[in-house]
Amino acid sequence: MKPVVKIGGSLLRSASDFIKAAEFILSFKEPPVVVVSAIKGVTDMLLELEKTRSYLMYEEILHRHLAVARPLGVEEAVTPLLKELEESLRLPRAEWTADHFASFGERLSAAILYAVLRRAGAKASLYVAPIRTDSKFGNAEPQRLEAKDEIAEPGVVAVVTGFIGRDGEGRFTTVGRGGSDYTATYIGKEIGARKVSLITDAPGVMTTDPREVEDAAVLPFLSIQEAVEAAKVGAKNFHPRTFLPVVEGDMAVEVRNYHSRGTLIANIYPPPPYKIVTKCGQGSCVVGLAASDLTKLGGTPLGRYSVRLNIPPRQAHEFLVKPYIKYIYW
Ligand code: ADP
Ligand code: ASP
Ligand code: MG
Repeated sequence: MKPVVKIGGSLLRSASDFIKAAEFILSFKEPPVVVVSAIKGVTDMLLELEKTRSYLMYEEILHRHLAVARPLGVEEAVTPLLKELEESLRLPRAEWTADHFASFGERLSAAILYAVLRRAGAKASLYVAPIRTDSKFGNAEPQRLEAKDEIAEPGVVAVVTGFIGRDGEGRFTTVGRGGSDYTATYIGKEIGARKVSLITDAPGVMTTDPREVEDAAVLPFLSIQEAVEAAKVGAKNFHPRTFLPVVEGDMAVEVRNYHSRGTLIANIYPPPPYKIVTKCGQGSCVVGLAASDLTKLGGTPLGRYSVRLNIPPRQAHEFLVKPYIKYIYW
């Protein structure tokens, strides 16, 4: 079965980033399903645009995309979408307009990547929001994958927009911020993929946020149950439902950058006992197979494999996770 590869927005900033993404996709023996996020920062700008309807903000978004598409020779892939976005500025605000505006981020980046792949001579098809969802705008739930057989067709790269879907009335919806990973695992489950690769700018799932704690380490393995709970407590900005499609079925997920071995998330129960620390309000959340032991130290249980502690993340990482880091091996 075709693999699913999600390219994160953190890796999509410039024209050369799209070339790197295309080269990576073309290096697969079996052409994958590629789930594409919006260019870094664009979703925030689109949501701001929906609120302000500022023409200056529109022009900033336009220039960002033209600066990427022009040097790649694929300007015609974005001009109709940018025109549609400009026309959307006149839409009166409604419950569905925030998602409508946000949808342009993934529609634009997927159109660029698709055009780059075609220019490189690849056999590829583009699918815009093939996920049918309910109408909970901003937090929609996938219900069905349309065009499943075409997307799963071997021998063709299927470029799919992440994050967005359409409701029964054909209106764009979004599954919630950071949701491209979730749409990738959902599509993986629907097509029966064995592996979903979430490609990001971090080398893998790390023991804590590397921007906050310098000695955060990459976890080589994580169980699916730990990943489910890690996403719920906000690890790596994962959408809280990212790993639910992985619970049933026979699918593994890897989180990595273009070069690292990354983290394998599968039906395994690996050490170390405490794996991930996140910031939870004033305290921290600790995820790991042995996390429930921490209730003896005053931790509040959050799930089978996660607890909340009243100490800062740096301290929880130092005392609970760091002592085991030296035993983490590949
Ligand atoms: P993408 O959607 O491209 O994967 P995100 O911004 O959603 O990008 O997530 C990647 C960022 O998450 C990394 O740059 C890293 O700094 C941050 N991050 C926070 N916590 C973790 C963690 N536990 N493991 C890995 N990355 C983390
Ligand atoms: N572009 C969306 C966001 O910024 C989805 C994602 O990147 O995962 O939330
Ligand atoms: Mg993300």
